[in-house]
Amino acid sequence: MFKALVMEQNEDGLASAEIKEISEDQLPEGNVTVAVEYSTVNYKDGLCLSKKGGGLVRNYPHVPGIDFAGTVETSDDDRYKPGDKVVLTGWRVGEMHWGGYGQKARVKGDWLVPLPEGLSTKQAMAVGTAGFTAMLAVMALEDHGLKPDQGPVLVTGAAGGVGSVATAILANLGYEVAGVTGRPDTGDYLKSLGATQVVAREELNETVKRPLEAETWAGCVDAVGGDMLARVLGQMKYGASVGAVGLAGGAGLPATVIPFLLRGVNLLGIDSVMQPYDNRVRAWKRIANDLPMDKLEAMVQPATLSDLPSLGADILKGQVKGRVVVDVN
Ligand code: NDP
Repeated sequence: MFKALVMEQNEDGLASAEIKEISEDQLPEGNVTVAVEYSTVNYKDGLCLSKKGGGLVRNYPHVPGIDFAGTVETSDDDRYKPGDKVVLTGWRVGEMHWGGYGQKARVKGDWLVPLPEGLSTKQAMAVGTAGFTAMLAVMALEDHGLKPDQGPVLVTGAAGGVGSVATAILANLGYEVAGVTGRPDTGDYLKSLGATQVVAREELNETVKRPLEAETWAGCVDAVGGDMLARVLGQMKYGASVGAVGLAGGAGLPATVIPFLLRGVNLLGIDSVMQPYDNRVRAWKRIANDLPMDKLEAMVQPATLSDLPSLGADILKGQVKGRVVVDVN
């Protein structure tokens, strides 16, 4: 028997979470069983923990947790043997398949990556899906030609999980980073991560009035979407790229095509869920190299399984600062 946060649907059709003892034979199908050490709280976890499962959870009872790190216990996959340290993000684990909010998880070996050298399981979950995706976005901007001497890089939703990790990585790589936040009290925090400029959310979340504004940003990691992304497109420098990561401010894109046509701006889609294995390994290696661990430490708050329902609600309201590490044991 082991402990897990189980969500069950009540008679009114709404789900609620409770910590329960469950047995290993209740785990879903898979060829690798992992003793989970740490998980975390991403925006999507907030959706999965909500009463309607955010439209992501299909079946109950359900164990949420879209990512985890731990030690392989049993494996029918030649690539993994008992004792190996592994990380999982994506593949709709925690949504369609039981996830990391329990002391054990059973998954397909295809979904795992070996714990990157230089990171502990705790640090890997301090990074989590949010930080992994921030790295993918930075890699995509670089692959499209971004270099530190081109000017400031904008990070939206900067005090959140994706934003905090993106800020710390970019600053460490020598970029000038401008962080957009709706929480003015996080200004010192963002500067401690390496941002040199803090932009108030109100300056950017108004509907586009002019399709082109002053060419300001050499790149952008966008966790917000909606009106803010639309505004940012019109402020990009000639030929610059935006990595579209998130929709914390809305799934719409009330923009014009003018920045694409007249300034050659690129809008790059960033998906972490179905990311191919080789690029996952590349991103985790880059994280171990390019994210300073003292900065990562500064963005983390610890939590346990019992904290998850309230943290899930907080992250949907944009009230979680940085990253949460959940010790499931
Ligand atoms: P967080 O809640 O930690 O960060 C989001 C941040 O966005 C908030 O902290 C807040 O930052 C800002 N924000 C929130 N609401 C609004 C709003 N209405 N208008 C403008 N800004 C807002 O979430 P995560 O970092 O975990 O995820 C960020 C986004 O990225 C989510 O939409 C998530 O679904 C997406 N995502 C996508 C992935 C992919 O594969 N494409 C993978 C991981 C995440 P501040 O207070 O500083 O303004």
